[in-house]
Amino acid sequence: MTVAGKSTEQLRREWAIHPYFKYRGCAPDPDDPLRMAGDPSLHVGAHHGPDAFLPEGQVERRAREARAVEVCLNCPVMVQCDAYASSVRPDGRLAEPEGVWGGRRALERHKALIRARHATPAAPNDRVFHTVQKQAVLRALASCWDPFEVAAAAGMDVRTANWQRSSLVRLLGLPKDVSRMRALAAARERGLLEGVDLVPDDGSVPAIPPPTPTKVPVPADTVEEVSEPVVLPEVIALPVRRPRRSRVRVMPGQLSFDDALAFVPVQSLLSSSPLGAAA
Ligand code: SF4
Repeated sequence: MTVAGKSTEQLRREWAIHPYFKYRGCAPDPDDPLRMAGDPSLHVGAHHGPDAFLPEGQVERRAREARAVEVCLNCPVMVQCDAYASSVRPDGRLAEPEGVWGGRRALERHKALIRARHATPAAPNDRVFHTVQKQAVLRALASCWDPFEVAAAAGMDVRTANWQRSSLVRLLGLPKDVSRMRALAAARERGLLEGVDLVPDDGSVPAIPPPTPTKVPVPADTVEEVSEPVVLPEVIALPVRRPRRSRVRVMPGQLSFDDALAFVPVQSLLSSSPLGAAA
C-alpha cells in the first residue's frame, strides 16, 4: 500500500530530506547524544524501547510509549514520518513494524493496516450502469429469461448479451450464479429499473441452467438406411510443388542431380515409356 501512489522508498526519502528533518523530536540531543532532542529527560531510543534482551513490563512500556507520542506530537515532520512508517511494503508488511512512529504506537498502526485490508470497496458509481448496452440488457432481462430471447430483445448477439449480464452481476456485487430475480431485485434497489415492468419467472426456468445434454449412442437397428446415394464432393487436384534444384544438396562422393540424369541409359528410359514399348 502506498500513500498517493508513492512507494515506501519515496516516502522515506521525502521524510529524510524534509528541511525540518534535523529538528525532529527523536533526534539525539546535540549536548548529550544519549538524550532525545524533543525531551532531554528521555533516552534517545525511547521510541523503540529498550534492547530486545532487556525485559520491560507492560506499565513501563505504556508510560514510555505515551511520552514518545508526546514528543511526536511536537515534531515538525510528524506527517511525513507517519506516511512513511505506516506505508506497506510489497511483501505486505508495514515499513516500520516496531516502535512509535509519527505519533502512533506499533499496535495502532497494525490495527489501521488490518482495518484498511478489510474495508469494503466503495460501491461503483451508478454511471457505469447507464451505458446503452447495459441498460438494454437490464430491460431485456426484466421481461424474459432465456439467453437467446434476452439477446434478441436487447438487440445484440448472445455472447455480448451474456458478457453484459455478467458485468452487471459483478458490478452489483453479486455472485456469478445469482438467479435472475435476485439480480433484478438488486438492480431495482439501486434505482436502475425505474418505470420498468418486471416479469417474474414462471417457475419453468430453473435458477441454474441445466447441464449440457450428453450424446447417447443410438442402437444400430434403430438407424434408418439411407436410400439416396451419398454425393461426395468433387476432388480438386492441388498443384504439386517440385523441389527447387537449388535445394538438392550435393553430397561429397555422390553424383549430382545433373550427373545422375546423364548416366541413365537412354534405352531404359525408352523401354519404360509407351513410345519405347511400341518401338
Ligand atoms: S514523528 Fe516521532 S518518530 Fe517521527 S521523526 Fe518525529 S519524533 Fe521521530
